[in-house]
Order: sequence, then C-alpha cells, then structure tokens
Amino acid sequence: MSAPRRVLVIGGGFSGMSAAIELRKRGVDVDLVELDPAWRSYGAGISLGGATLRAFRTLGILDAFLTHGFASDGVELHLPHGPIVSTVPTPRIAGPDVPGGGSIMRPVLARILAEATRAAGAHVRLGCSFSALEPRGDGVDVRFSDGTEGRYDLVIGADGIHSAVRRAIAPEAPEPTYVGQSVWRAVVPRHPAINTVSMWLGPNVKPGLNPVSATEMYMFITEPRPTKDRIDASEFVGRVRGLLADFPDPILQQVREQLGPSSSIVFRPVERLLMPRPWYRGRVVLIGDAAHASSPMMGQGGSLALEDAWVLAEALHSVDSVERALDAYVVRREPRVRWVRQESQAAGESLRLPVAARNAALRARGAEMMEHRFRPLTARA
Ligand SMILES: Cc1cc2nc3c(=O)[nH]c(=O)nc-3n(C[C@H](O)[C@H](O)[C@H](O)COP(=O)(O)OP(=O)(O)OC[C@H]3O[C@@H](n4cnc5c(N)ncnc54)[C@H](O)[C@@H]3O)c2cc1C
Repeated sequence: MSAPRRVLVIGGGFSGMSAAIELRKRGVDVDLVELDPAWRSYGAGISLGGATLRAFRTLGILDAFLTHGFASDGVELHLPHGPIVSTVPTPRIAGPDVPGGGSIMRPVLARILAEATRAAGAHVRLGCSFSALEPRGDGVDVRFSDGTEGRYDLVIGADGIHSAVRRAIAPEAPEPTYVGQSVWRAVVPRHPAINTVSMWLGPNVKPGLNPVSATEMYMFITEPRPTKDRIDASEFVGRVRGLLADFPDPILQQVREQLGPSSSIVFRPVERLLMPRPWYRGRVVLIGDAAHASSPMMGQGGSLALEDAWVLAEALHSVDSVERALDAYVVRREPRVRWVRQESQAAGESLRLPVAARNAALRARGAEMMEHRFRPLTARA
C-alpha cells in the first residue's frame, strides 16, 4: 500500500472541499488553495437529488443541510395554467429517514462545506493558486502564486469548468463548449403551495420552483438561445417576467410580480465539457467540473462533484498504488458522468420539440432515469 500522505487540492468549490474532508477522514495531510480571497459561492439555489443527499450523509453534513436547507419528496409537473399532470417519485436513496431530494441556497451550502473542511483539519489558503506544477519522482513540486513552494504526493485539480490545472497538465484537452441554452435563477418568498420541486411544461421553457428554506424558494428557467449572449443586469427583471408571461398559473404570476432588484437574479450561458480519459497525468488528477461539466438539466453536477471526491479518496485508500487508484477512480466515475451528460443533453434538446413530442420523450425516459439515477455509489456504480 502506498497511499499518498500529503495532498494539495486546488479549488475550494463543492468538489475540492469534499475531497479535502474525505481525505482528512483517512488521515491524509491536506492543503487546499482557493483563488477567491473571500471564498464566495455565487448564484441562487441549487437543486439536489437523492444521490446528493446520500453524499451529504457520507461527508457528515446531512444534518446541517436538513437544518439550513429544504428536503422534500417528488417532482410535480404542471400545465402552464396550473393543474398537476404528474408527480415523479424521487426514491429516498440517502435512507428511509431522508426525503428523496431538496434544495439550498448555494452560499449556505458553501459555508456548511467550508466549516466542515476546516473542522476536518485541512489547511486552507485563500486568495492563492498555483503558478507551476513540476512532476518529480513519486510526487509533484508546486510553486504557488504567493511565491511559496511545496512538495506533494498528489495534486487534485478541483478548479471548475475553466480549470487552469487541466490546461497545465493537458493543454490538448477540449475547451468547454456552449450548448445553446442559458439559465436564469432567482430567489423569491416561498409560496405556501410550493412544498417540493415544481415545474411547468410550457411550449418553449419549463420554469421551476424549489423551496430552499422555510421562507424562500428559488426559480430556475432554462432558455434555448442559439448564441452565447451577455445580458446587462438592468434587463434581468424584464427578461424573466417576459419568460413567465405565457404561464397563467396564479403562482407563477405572483412570482412574476414579486421579481425585483432583491431577487438575486443570475443569468448564465450553459457550457459543457468532458475530459477524455484518463482524467490525470502522473500525480495530478482532475475532479468535478474540471474533468466533466454537463448542462444542468438533470441537477446532478453537484452530486457528481461530491461523488468524485468520495470515490477518489476511497480508491486512494484501498488500492495498492496511486497509479492504480487513479485508474480505478476514472473507471468507476466515467460511466455515471457520461450517463448524466447524455440525459441532460436529451432533456435540453426536448425543449425544442413540439409540446406533445417533448412530453412523450420525457415520459419514455422517466423509467430508465429513475433506475439509473439511484444506483448505489459503489465500485460497481
Ligand atoms: C447555471 C448552473 C446551474 C446548475 N444547477 C445545478 C443544480 O441545480 N444542481 C446541481 O447538482 N448542480 C448544478 N450545477 C452544476 C454544479 O454547480 C457544478 O457541477 C458544481 O458546482 C461543480 O463543483 P466544482 O467544485 O467541481 O467546481 P466549482 O463549483 O466551479 O468550484 C471551483 C472552485 O475553484 C476555484 N478556482 C478556480 N480557479 C482556481 C485556481 N486557478 N486556483 C485556485 N482555485 C481556483 C473557484 O473560485 C471555485 O471556488 C449547475 C451549474 C450551472 C452552470
């Protein structure tokens, strides 16, 4: 057994913090560097499937999530004027005592993970990145942006979709590509009738609402847009109101009226990327969005990031060489990543179909999605 004793994590997002926590549990010395001096997390809410809540349980943050976020069962699908046409079940894969999904404000989840990272004993440096990664024997010599240096048995690149670590180790890797959709997010007071994820099946867009706490809910809308546009923030409220105009349901009309400068509206063109195998070079490995990012139609990116961290830490602890552990990590993760990517793309494309064809496509995929999405997170997953 030659498990790494000293690991550097580059990037303090969901994947990097989870890797730090999981490695500390196994007694590894962990340094984590995060570019943002304030360690902020932007955006409104994040939707979480049962697989993410299972990962929270593994990480030890499930109770904090249940206290500060919102857990619920099922996804309600509505017609534009309000009636529910279907309630999609969300099996309780984190355990019989935990609902099958949920949501939380991103900054709140980031704070919970940051506290757990520090409590686990990881050494965190903010406002810091790497400036050079030099492979040396069974390790990597690292120069940091603040002029300091360090030597590590393994470096984990967890620095997101535009990863500088990926560019450093695999300059030939593809760059993220725009998928022809952009997403809107906003936070509004929680409507008393919204008790779980609720989506409205409109002709062009499918607005959704998800409670993020007892008092707030976040709205998500994916909008097909052929070009990767930049929209000035002064237009946000008007644009989102325009997207909701075709939905007479009084709940959505109330949300439409409530939108204003305090709604934390976020607009993001969606990009995706899949790093070809292997997701590592020597002793530098990529996790989370740095290795694979898909469109957010499945709401699974966060889950994949957390699972990557868990599977990598477990492989490093149980496989008899670092090289074989990195191989095992990629072999275990790639099929799940590819499946989420494929389903997410299909769901995005279905937005462009006529309504009847889109609804038939959604129904046809439903059963398979349920079966695949809840496979156990084991070596065979
Ligand atoms: C619009 C949108 C909506 C989404 N909605 C959902 C959802 O509802 N549910 C869900 O599960 N997933 C969702 N996702 C996906 C999810 O947000 C990502 O998959 C997840 O955040 C990936 O985590 P990460 O830690 O790998 O990367 P990131 O969250 O991008 O974190 C990377 C971190 O690295 C830091 N960093 C960057 N460069 C450097 C550097 N050079 N040195 C040091 N640090 C650096 C950054 O500051 C950041 O803190 C959504 C994604 C998008 C774009």
